[in-house]
Amino acid sequence: MLSRSKPQTPGLKPFVYRGMFRCGECGCCITMEFKKGRSYMHCSKRKIPCSQRFSRETDIELQLREEIKSVALCSAWASEIIAHLEKEKSESAQAGSIVVIELQDSLEPLASKLDALLDLALNGRLTQDEYTLKKAELIGEKKAIQEKLDVCRKKDYDRFTPVIDFFAEASHVGELAEKGKPEEIRDFVKKTGSNFRLRDKKIAFEYKNHWRILHNFLCRPEKKKKMQNLQIGGGGGNRTRVRRPLAGTATGLVPNKSRPA
Ligand SMILES: [Zn+2]
Repeated sequence: MLSRSKPQTPGLKPFVYRGMFRCGECGCCITMEFKKGRSYMHCSKRKIPCSQRFSRETDIELQLREEIKSVALCSAWASEIIAHLEKEKSESAQAGSIVVIELQDSLEPLASKLDALLDLALNGRLTQDEYTLKKAELIGEKKAIQEKLDVCRKKDYDRFTPVIDFFAEASHVGELAEKGKPEEIRDFVKKTGSNFRLRDKKIAFEYKNHWRILHNFLCRPEKKKKMQNLQIGGGGGNRTRVRRPLAGTATGLVPNKSRPA
């Protein structure tokens, strides 16, 4: 009796999509089952009657592979965007944000005060002790501003890094879709998407954050056409025309520079 209630499944591989999907009809969890050498997924139908039938795990895998191609950025585009962002990053580090400029400005009066202090000491209008004390005070102030300046410059510089990493990852999605293991595809979609549903043997989910923006951008019909042109043309005449809107999208993903508190 006991052995009949617990199916014996020696050597059964772990179900790749366990706990990931919900039924698109009734909202119940999608459960896994191994039958006749195949893994199946189906609605657990625990709440209300539901008309959904079985889906093969391999079909779900194929759909996920196809789906992630919608956020696969061709390497020519990715290289252009990353070069654009690297340039902005470098320019931003040189120009500095409002806070950086303000901090830089506040250093100048301190240098003048130190000069004036030295003059007073040389003219005998300050004792050595008074000079040493005041000088230490001004140098401490200068050091504190310099430290704040370093933090702000690093913050401005670092805000580009996650976006550059994002585009680098997006340029590898095409390869992942073609050659990635099912577990790698699953981990990628779980990281980049949410609200995974299964209905009528079709999957659905929404991309999150930057991935949603990229998905919406790449799935606009006119962008798809341009992208195909670019891939086919291999960086020909279309390159200049498509660079501007995509670069704009890339820049829009970078957080604003640090501002005064
Ligand atoms: Zn259901």
